[in-house]
Amino acid sequence: MSHDSNCIFCKIVAGKIPSKKVHEDEELLVFHDIHPWAPVHVLVIPKAHIATHYEVGAEHEAMLGRMLALAPKLMRDLGVVNGFRTLINTGEDGRQEVQHLHMHVMGGARPWLRG
Ligand code: AMP
Ligand code: ZN
Repeated sequence: MSHDSNCIFCKIVAGKIPSKKVHEDEELLVFHDIHPWAPVHVLVIPKAHIATHYEVGAEHEAMLGRMLALAPKLMRDLGVVNGFRTLINTGEDGRQEVQHLHMHVMGGARPWLRG
């Protein structure tokens, strides 16, 4: 599995930086965003290092499908029942701050104030 030793999310996957984990399986990790923009704000990431959505191709279709398919269960389990927002920022113009592919999933009241 690809790994970048300088990448903060790879360090979270490796357990070198603590996180508040919500879900983990062979391929994906989900944890709470450290600076939430909404009452519930989690990040869904592949465990493998993929820097941005630009690097995603046909070989990642199943994984991306799993990321999206997981979102409603995560939100329900976290008590979100009135809708949520999913967001992937990509590259400089997409305002991506962490260079490891991640999908924001935000729920609770007005999760769209930022971003
Ligand atoms: P983006 O702008 O899409 O790259 O978002 C990066 C997100 O990662 C931001 O919402 C940050 O608050 C979040 N973040 C950065 N470092 C950590 C960390 N150590 N644990 C959890 N979330 C983090
Ligand atoms: Zn990484």
